[in-house]
Amino acid sequence: MEKKQFQAESKRLLEMMINSIYSQKEVFLRELISNASDAIDKIYYKALTDEQLTFEKDSYYIKVVPDKETRTLKIIDTGIGMTKEELENNLGVIAKSGSLAFKTENEIKDGHDIIGQFGVGFYAAFMVADVVTVISKAQGSDEAYKWESEGTDGYSIEPVQKDSVGTEIILKIKENTEDDNYDEYLESYSLKSTIKKYSDFIRYPIKMDMSSSRPKEGSDNEFEEYVEEQTINSMVPIWRKNKSELTDEDYETFYMEKRYGFDKPLKHIHVSVDGTIRYNAILFIPEKIPFDYYSKEFEKGLELYSNGVLIMNKCADLLPDYFSFVKGMVDSEDLSLNISREILQHDRQLKLIAKNISKKIKSELQSLLKNNREKYDEFYKSFGRQLKFGVYSDFGSNKEMLQDLLMFYSSKEKKMVTLDEYVSRMPEDQKYIYYASGDSVERIDKLPQTEIVAEKGYEILYFTEDIDEFAIKMLMTYKEKEFKSVSSGDLGIETDENDKNNDEQKEENKELFSAMKDILSGKVKEVRASKRLKSHPVCLTADGEVTIEMEKVLNMMPD
Ligand code: ADP
Ligand code: MG
Repeated sequence: MEKKQFQAESKRLLEMMINSIYSQKEVFLRELISNASDAIDKIYYKALTDEQLTFEKDSYYIKVVPDKETRTLKIIDTGIGMTKEELENNLGVIAKSGSLAFKTENEIKDGHDIIGQFGVGFYAAFMVADVVTVISKAQGSDEAYKWESEGTDGYSIEPVQKDSVGTEIILKIKENTEDDNYDEYLESYSLKSTIKKYSDFIRYPIKMDMSSSRPKEGSDNEFEEYVEEQTINSMVPIWRKNKSELTDEDYETFYMEKRYGFDKPLKHIHVSVDGTIRYNAILFIPEKIPFDYYSKEFEKGLELYSNGVLIMNKCADLLPDYFSFVKGMVDSEDLSLNISREILQHDRQLKLIAKNISKKIKSELQSLLKNNREKYDEFYKSFGRQLKFGVYSDFGSNKEMLQDLLMFYSSKEKKMVTLDEYVSRMPEDQKYIYYASGDSVERIDKLPQTEIVAEKGYEILYFTEDIDEFAIKMLMTYKEKEFKSVSSGDLGIETDENDKNNDEQKEENKELFSAMKDILSGKVKEVRASKRLKSHPVCLTADGEVTIEMEKVLNMMPD
């Protein structure tokens, strides 16, 4: 029997792999910078155990150098470098990760700082480059080597001269095509924003020469160009800093820099969890409704980082719809990523984080409600509607989560009150939580139906938004008290005397009522004497579960 190896058209395989893994070309930079950071980390880890080595943080950095003239982009690092064998093994073998091996060999259990694990990131360079050249000198070696590949028919390797330890990756950037523009990978400003976006929290400085202009010395209106080396990344993420070191302003600046919104945040929530799952999160409750919030275009979600590297811009799974207004980010070391590092392998950890976050948001809103009512009112004006939608759309767990956060206008207090406040004020003989629906507070005030309830001294909640009554129907009860519309048939407060009166009136006016019913035929089901009118001559009452206001809303909905 003859045993044969699979043959692969390596050029096509490489192309297929690269183009199917990544959804955006710009991530090549994230991958190369992550590798550079790993290479510096390795020196750091070695220095921990090797007394001959010292690690002086200042001498370790990453530098990005675009050059439009030669159409090249260099990514230079002062990391551990690669020997000839390592160049062959790590860059010549797809899906071989020297970094993963490093973690295993050195038994770095807490090596979660090292990012590499799949052994494919490097090849992302071929999405934007025709030729990739790697010049590297390994630590402890006198020789340096140049590895070069066009991504097609393998690679070449030869000795070169390089003085310092580390690696230099040179990309020959592709020419523009009709569909793709590659020039942006040679523009300092667009490179800077890509670095900011994905690699802002790499722990070593990422440097780049940036040109700016300044007023010419001795002149008021003349400017001169100058070039200055800048560190692009912030390095220490704000969420890894100690809460006690941070001021409200720090959070506000972060909110603005991240462009979470154009307003100021109403509140920030900083969470650091170090339990079965470890994560840091900074969440914001915006002050104002984003302009597209109640539109189809609005996308909810939080930024998701894995160990400081941006994985997803808007991870929708982290937020339930009813908290979709929350902005911010989550960083976790414990996510299982798939090889593009854009999607999560299985979402057990993510679900756990999402659950914790929701609970946290709820408790923070509750404490705002308790301790800063003015701010809570402001919040509720913007996003109360969303909470009510939440109650309406699923009453299983949302009910528990949201019922204490709801507020409605109170006939007695003349302001927004919570259900808890309402119930705690109820007189003993009051059985129900009464509500009245209408277009506005003023109109509800004038409703004949509210009179008898108000006269009893009972408080009425005014429902002025379409969603209100639907949400309440889902809640059904609050603290075992049922909700009751003031326009429902049985209000639960009629007296015996009233009943007697009513019966008499029914007899007396029998003919009048039937004549009225004939005239209004098709519009009303019945005309009868009412027990609930005080100063108004007539009122409309709903029959059954759906009240008049709900009927109006339902009639407006498209079929
Ligand atoms: P991964 O980072 O997931 O391991 P890559 O394809 O990005 O996969 O890189 C493959 C391997 O090449 C790395 O594991 C590392 O051993 C080596 N490597 C890549 N870039 C560098 C670099 N700048 N310095 C040192 N080694 C590197
Ligand atoms: Mg990598």
